[in-house]
Amino acid sequence: MWKAKFLVFLFINMLPIGLWAATPTLNQVSGMVSPQKDSRFTRIPSKYTNKTEYIQKDVMPDLERMIRAARQDGVNIRVISAFRSYSHQKNIWQRKWQRTSGRDKTRLRVILRYSSPPAFSRHHWGTDVDVNSLKLSYWAGVDGQKTLGWLQKNARKFGFCQVYAHGRNGGHAEEIWHWSHMRTAQPYYQVRMKNIKKINDLNVSGNHLLTPKLLKSYVVSVKSCGL
Ligand SMILES: [Zn+2]
Repeated sequence: MWKAKFLVFLFINMLPIGLWAATPTLNQVSGMVSPQKDSRFTRIPSKYTNKTEYIQKDVMPDLERMIRAARQDGVNIRVISAFRSYSHQKNIWQRKWQRTSGRDKTRLRVILRYSSPPAFSRHHWGTDVDVNSLKLSYWAGVDGQKTLGWLQKNARKFGFCQVYAHGRNGGHAEEIWHWSHMRTAQPYYQVRMKNIKKINDLNVSGNHLLTPKLLKSYVVSVKSCGL
């Protein structure tokens, strides 16, 4: 009897710790971390990527299992981008802003097709990966089509979903290359959604047009694959 009581006591006491650990901070959700120093992260082995890429430890086993299963079916998957920091995303945003012409509203619409402003990229979470190529021409070719077919059929088994899939209403354009580990991403998504209004001074170009309403429309327009 005492044993059962002790277990109940232990469970109740562990519960808040478990919940606390699962809730990321707003800084973590916004990519304001160094993955080298953050215990949530691990480096992706060089056999799966050509670059120095970090991902959450919770995601790595499923990613590895998926890449291995694909390889057995003759499909080669390589990570080209995983975790991105706030400053990395800000550089991407600012570079695109400088290279895009037109009025501010036009520039914003063009850039938002494929890029998020800093603090709003799912790449900050260490739960999402871009694979093989960012070029539509690759995905239209024989290799790309084979890889896409395999991912669409199998990625779900490993917890991954093509969040920016074809046929959504609004949000970023289709991103064939972008796959998200949904279980691990879920608490980050929730914190992002709860705090959209807190960040409306992003200190980036086009800032004045990045309203909470607009930002929210890009955060929510994702597919979940029922995961
Ligand atoms: Zn991506």
